[in-house]
Amino acid sequence: MARWRSSAGRVNVRYGFIKELSGLVAPGGLLTDRSDLVCYSYDASGLEFLPDAVILPSSTEEVRKVMALAQREGIAVFPRGAGSGTTGAFLPRGGGVVLCLARMNRILSISHSDLMAEVEPGVVTGELQNRAAAAGLFYPPDPSSLDFCTIGGNVATGAGGARAVKYGVTRDYVIGLDVVLPGGDVIRTGFRTAKGVVGYDLTRLMVGSEGTLGVVTGVTLKLIPAPQTVGTALSFFKDASAAASAVSRLFVLGVLPRCAEFMDAACLGCIADELPVGVPETASAMLLVEVDGQEDSIAAGLDAIICAFREEGAVGVYVAKDKDEAAAFWKARRSLSTSVRRLGPPHKISEDICVPRHALSGIIRVIEETVKETGLKILSFGHAGDGNLHVNILLDKRKEHEMTSAQSAVKKIFKKTIEFGGTISGEHGVGLTKRDYIGMELDGKTLDIMRSIKAVFDPKGILNPGKIFPEGD
Ligand SMILES: Cc1cc2nc3c(=O)[nH]c(=O)nc-3n(C[C@H](O)[C@H](O)[C@H](O)COP(=O)(O)OP(=O)(O)OC[C@H]3O[C@@H](n4cnc5c(N)ncnc54)[C@H](O)[C@@H]3O)c2cc1C
Repeated sequence: MARWRSSAGRVNVRYGFIKELSGLVAPGGLLTDRSDLVCYSYDASGLEFLPDAVILPSSTEEVRKVMALAQREGIAVFPRGAGSGTTGAFLPRGGGVVLCLARMNRILSISHSDLMAEVEPGVVTGELQNRAAAAGLFYPPDPSSLDFCTIGGNVATGAGGARAVKYGVTRDYVIGLDVVLPGGDVIRTGFRTAKGVVGYDLTRLMVGSEGTLGVVTGVTLKLIPAPQTVGTALSFFKDASAAASAVSRLFVLGVLPRCAEFMDAACLGCIADELPVGVPETASAMLLVEVDGQEDSIAAGLDAIICAFREEGAVGVYVAKDKDEAAAFWKARRSLSTSVRRLGPPHKISEDICVPRHALSGIIRVIEETVKETGLKILSFGHAGDGNLHVNILLDKRKEHEMTSAQSAVKKIFKKTIEFGGTISGEHGVGLTKRDYIGMELDGKTLDIMRSIKAVFDPKGILNPGKIFPEGD
């Protein structure tokens, strides 16, 4: 064994193992200086665990060799993309090696005739979108982190985004994967054709598996023709309930929006200065909606939506006059995860519950009640068109009473979400932060099957250990 357990219970990697690792990757592909390791010790969850080493492979072959060595030596490996995850899903808790795929960032092909792209996992999502757009094609999944998150991370988390309302999530675009298994074997899942049904669907199993089953080193993605035009509008409401009713109304109009994003009063306060339009004094909630399609369908689609919003009591509606104004609306929306930090409390617990659309106003009421009961600052925003809300609890984790209130708030919101027929994570996954709640949603038998699947892929438990399953598993 190339490791020992320190008095603090942390597994440390021995010098001999590090030396062997250094021979497996190209120069500059191994980091061991503390100042470098710190950069790979956190994600957007607010948690931090220092790795013993970081490997930056340049090819599937290098990943294969690293995984074979790690399995032989029993060293934990933690796959990482850009580290933008919100659940601690790649964090090297307990020590081990972070395997960062960011250098494998080539777009290998974009095919018009096959409507497909082949990419390496470290490609930044926004870059793929730009390259597809330049070719007149469209890769719809658009997590708000698209300027820095990677396709590999999106695959591993099953990332969603604002456009999921009309176009679906990452899972709907992954056709095939190259995957390195813990012992170093490489498998190709799925197809490189428009359809295929031979054998179990391992591609779908890998998507959302949070780096616990294999390391994704190649991704084949479906593309679609780019829509001709997009129309964007902002609508303000006197309260969150009115905005939630307006969202429900959207889906009986016969116009399917491509986005319907919600922000509550506190979020609105955070971004008001960034919006290029004035926020009405009576506004306490906002919807950002978008339609796309043929040029001549846009005005009619937006008109139908605006008319319905007015009937639902909208207190102000603005249609973006051009692409730049639409981009400014989105810039403000995408800045929310970070701008909420300006509100004061130093820490944030971010949840991303998802309920059936009809239950949106019900869960918003539960969140409002929870604010009154706990006195905590809780902000909600997100992909309301999917019933997916990012619930951000702001607190000072050093204050025990705030921590206790926040934990009971999370439990209550999760319990009600599940009662409404929803899920505790619409797109961010389980990672470390939600693993102790997974039993609220999944029954024991289902969890047992998932544990057995993990054991088939990773019999020695070296790949991203400690994630998804409850503490102690
Ligand atoms: C401001 C902000 C906005 C966000 N908005 C959204 C949003 O709208 N929708 C959404 O879904 N998420 C959102 N997120 C969360 C996050 O960006 C996504 O989960 C994203 O998919 C993570 O990608 P990453 O490259 O940063 O992965 P990381 O955070 O590095 O890793 C995430 C998980 O993927 C695994 N992983 C990474 N690469 C691989 C690989 N090649 N093979 C196997 N496993 C791998 C890791 O082990 C880990 O389990 C947001 C985050 C931030 C900070």
